[in-house]
Amino acid sequence: MKIRKLYIDPQVKDYPETAGISARIKAGQIVVADPDEVLRDIRSGNNPETAGKHSLFITRNKGPFIRKCPGTSHYTCCDYHILHIGAYCTMDCSYCILQAYFHPPVLTLFVNFREMTDQLETLFSSGPMYRTGTGEFTDSLIWEPVYPLASHLVNLFSGRDNAVLELKTKTVATQGLLGLDHRRNTIVSWSLNTEKAIREQERGTASLDDRIHAAAECQLRGYPLGFHFDPMIWYPGCEADYARVVRKLFRRIDPGNVVWISMGSFRFMTHLQEIIERRHPRSDIVYGEFIRGQDGKMRYFKPLRIRLYRALAEAIRNLAPDVTLYFCMEDDEVWGKVLGYTPDQSGGLPSILDASAARHCGLDPNRILEFPRNPVDTLPVPPV
Ligand code: SF4
Repeated sequence: MKIRKLYIDPQVKDYPETAGISARIKAGQIVVADPDEVLRDIRSGNNPETAGKHSLFITRNKGPFIRKCPGTSHYTCCDYHILHIGAYCTMDCSYCILQAYFHPPVLTLFVNFREMTDQLETLFSSGPMYRTGTGEFTDSLIWEPVYPLASHLVNLFSGRDNAVLELKTKTVATQGLLGLDHRRNTIVSWSLNTEKAIREQERGTASLDDRIHAAAECQLRGYPLGFHFDPMIWYPGCEADYARVVRKLFRRIDPGNVVWISMGSFRFMTHLQEIIERRHPRSDIVYGEFIRGQDGKMRYFKPLRIRLYRALAEAIRNLAPDVTLYFCMEDDEVWGKVLGYTPDQSGGLPSILDASAARHCGLDPNRILEFPRNPVDTLPVPPV
């Protein structure tokens, strides 16, 4: 995606970060007195979701940088914390929820790094174990070539005994991470899918081979790794394709270095359907048989989801029997029928993941249960 317009919030126009980004992105620059100007401009065209991918708004995060992942009602959540570094994405997956989540979506990058650092220091001194990631409202690594925020974060998390950072990506922009003294406090994670799904649904992302190659390079440099098969997309023969991805993965990746693998299937809010049909007319993913889940999102029928997950879980278990496998947004019945236990039988999903992070990232396992969870909700919100 080519950035054609660079909108700059006057509050950050003199920041060195803004100067660095502006020097690297050759685009028309507009200092906007009011952020609504950006939104009005994006909304004025026929295809705001695409226009938002060609415009970058550099601004301050005026709210908290760290937020508890809202998860979704009625399904098991993992108690993750989102580090809110920016919004939207330069890649263009047909199923991307961000197309419908922001109104309108526009590439946004927060450059008040000092305030983010202060909030993270408060978090680090607050006791419990935190799993924190930047890949919820954007891809964690898309801005690395113009603003190496992820590299700064790796340094900031390095050596902490109660926090891990997860960088989640579909890129191969890991070059800047390779030489860092990360001390295994950063988990580099890739979303994986079948080659057909990547080709047909994940426009502008790195190929499967390139993602695995980048993961192998990070492994060589000592980074613990994570993988996310989410969203799994059903099509005839997909089970064999997912098993092939797993075989490819473990030809290069040591299962003992994998902190976790998540599984989730394609789901969508109904208003995303119109956007997918309009923006991705060659995609047929919304035309399967879906039911409305308890959280209002459309999902594959449960027996189909279970069949998909079983095929993937079996392929993973064959090659990596000890890897921590979990579901993103599934219920106890799915857990039981695919993995043979429910999270509550193992102390709850947050504890399962904390324990795996502690094992692989060298954190202090006593920090897991020693403190009450989630005081992040009481962190001071910086003044707007
Ligand atoms: S890589 Fe992730 S954030 Fe980017 S378009 Fe695809 S789903 Fe959305």
